[in-house]
Amino acid sequence: MINVLFSAAAEAWPEYEAPLRRALSEAGVEADLRTDFDPAEVDYVVYAPNGGLSDFRPFTRAKAVLSLWAGVEKIVGNEHLTQPLARMVDHGLTEGMVEWVTGHVLRHHLGIDGNLAAQTGAWEPKVPPLARDRKVSILGLGELGAACAQALARLNFDVAGWSRRSKTLDGIACHHGDDGLAAVLGRSEILVLLLPRTPETENILNARTLAQMPQGAVIINPGRGHLIDDEALLAALDSGQIGHATLDVFRVEPLPADHPYWANPNVTVTPHIASETRPESASRVIAENIRRGEAGEPFLHLVDRKAGY
Ligand code: NAP
Repeated sequence: MINVLFSAAAEAWPEYEAPLRRALSEAGVEADLRTDFDPAEVDYVVYAPNGGLSDFRPFTRAKAVLSLWAGVEKIVGNEHLTQPLARMVDHGLTEGMVEWVTGHVLRHHLGIDGNLAAQTGAWEPKVPPLARDRKVSILGLGELGAACAQALARLNFDVAGWSRRSKTLDGIACHHGDDGLAAVLGRSEILVLLLPRTPETENILNARTLAQMPQGAVIINPGRGHLIDDEALLAALDSGQIGHATLDVFRVEPLPADHPYWANPNVTVTPHIASETRPESASRVIAENIRRGEAGEPFLHLVDRKAGY
């Protein structure tokens, strides 16, 4: 019998308890799963930052910390964490992100806002271009970015992407490095941000990089708020350099009621709902990693602590 501590927001426990117990049993793992243990007796920590755990030193026998979240910026730099850290890669989370990104790209591509605003009896046909003639780019070609890029390419969009290391993805023009970023920005009519928050990606969209985009481009950010210099984006929206920004994530969440994004007619705010870890599928990912740990097999989805994601 192993001890598994569930350390996440209190409201997550009723959602996860049954799926986790089921998944552990299906994986053949005999586990005592609880929200409270003597830290010295814990074998695995199922973790989300909103559980409040930050000192991992008393977890002397823990074999891994298994994050329920894909983004690990709140724990990756924790100097008290000496155990391996795995992040969440969950097909439910990926599916949700593909649907959200595709929907918001199609909104701008088809000019749906214009149709909604034109219900006045005026008959003014404006046929949108085909997807094959629309240049969409994605910064970040990881689990989520690559899945979104491929879904958009299947709809015939002209898709390019950018990652840290060089990459090959069928049907996607893949770029990397500083030159690659300039090339991608310069062709982006619609730009989707799916980078993690690291010191290197902080403010990656700033006055200089926003100016490299075509005039009137659309930005869609389901990545992290810190990817964007907010002042620079507001200025670019004011000048018309950026036509619209659809933002799901912010430096401060909930986005404060007096933040200028709320009142800007060219900004759409969504409250960090682009996608969520789904308890059923995510529990199977957690259980598989615990099974692996017990069988002496390598963990899946380990975070590269040095790269920060
Ligand atoms: P991932 O698999 O780790 O992919 C990250 C991608 O970003 C990789 O392609 C990586 O390049 C690239 N990257 C990292 N640092 C870079 C740099 N300095 N320059 C260029 N490219 C860089 O992460 P994921 O699972 O796709 O998730 C991405 C992010 O989405 C998460 O970190 C989280 O912030 C966000 N997210 C948001 C929501 C929401 O509801 N809004 C939900 C889930 C996740 P390589 O391929 O070369 O490593």
